[in-house]
Amino acid sequence: MKLSLVVPCYNEEQNVALFYSEVKRVFDAEGYSYECVFVNDGSADNTLGELKKLHAEADGNIRIVSFSRNFGKEAAMYAGIEHAKGDLICLIDADLQQRPEVVVGMVKRLDEAPELDCVAAFQAERRESGLLTFFKSNFYKLINSVSDTTFVQGASDFRTFRRSVAEAVLSMGEYHRFSKGILSWVGFNTEYIPYEVQERAAGESKWSFKKLFKYAIDGIMAFSTAPLAIPTVLGIIMAVVSFLYLGIDGLISVISSDFENIRDTLIIFLLLLIGGIQLISIGIIGKYLAKTYEQGKNRPIYIAREVIEPKNDD
Ligand code: UDP
Ligand code: MG
Repeated sequence: MKLSLVVPCYNEEQNVALFYSEVKRVFDAEGYSYECVFVNDGSADNTLGELKKLHAEADGNIRIVSFSRNFGKEAAMYAGIEHAKGDLICLIDADLQQRPEVVVGMVKRLDEAPELDCVAAFQAERRESGLLTFFKSNFYKLINSVSDTTFVQGASDFRTFRRSVAEAVLSMGEYHRFSKGILSWVGFNTEYIPYEVQERAAGESKWSFKKLFKYAIDGIMAFSTAPLAIPTVLGIIMAVVSFLYLGIDGLISVISSDFENIRDTLIIFLLLLIGGIQLISIGIIGKYLAKTYEQGKNRPIYIAREVIEPKNDD
């Protein structure tokens, strides 16, 4: 099979049938063999009923994975990729904000360029409020400055990739998933194409500002251990300040022969110094914790794009 569309669905009862009919219209015209892997992410509405109806009526190219509760879009994408059978896999939302026509363009790019592994769409123009755009662009600056992984501004999960990429993504078994980071971490040759986000076909977005903020923090924590180094930096600053304080205040006391004050100076100096030493110690523990954290994620040590064996190997 050529293509699997992985579609996470959470309370999308009004959209799934429409989504499928649009996909069918576009892909039948192209003559691709394709399937839709719908992942019902514990919807509270009749999404599952709608999906089962589609499954009964459609061309036999619908696969449904239904979760026992809401696990979130990241988990839904993982499950969809795991169950997809196509040579190419496309991550796409159920609300038709991302058009199937764009997927055709992605597939064509992958067909004509064998050296490409992934074609990802990025939003050329954001339709969101100024404040949200401000937070989002600063989030990209922040995460890129504290993480070794590169995050492309405006890149969405909307992308099509080869099976090799899918297998690499599945080999990242971490529980707190941040797919923008995972897809960048695994490497491979990715091309970014601009696309225009459409209005939602029906229903409303599941993302509130609070949820987005939490997601951003999760993303930083999943791809950076820089916050664990904050105590070390603060501790060093405090220790340096303590010595400066001792030097300056001590000198003033000596010059003005105010020996009463020297005792206070020493006490404050020791307080600052001990505080600094404690923070540095916490930072050292943080360093080890960071290493344990990285190890605990059990990420693959490397991902090979290809291995070329010797010609006369038997
Ligand atoms: N979604 C999901 N689980 C969730 C939240 C969202 O599977 O907990 C799905 C949702 O059904 C949609 C896609 O993820 O297909 C994107 O969600 P949404 O449209 O709410 O996000 P937005 O487009 O506003 O970023
Ligand atoms: Mg949407």
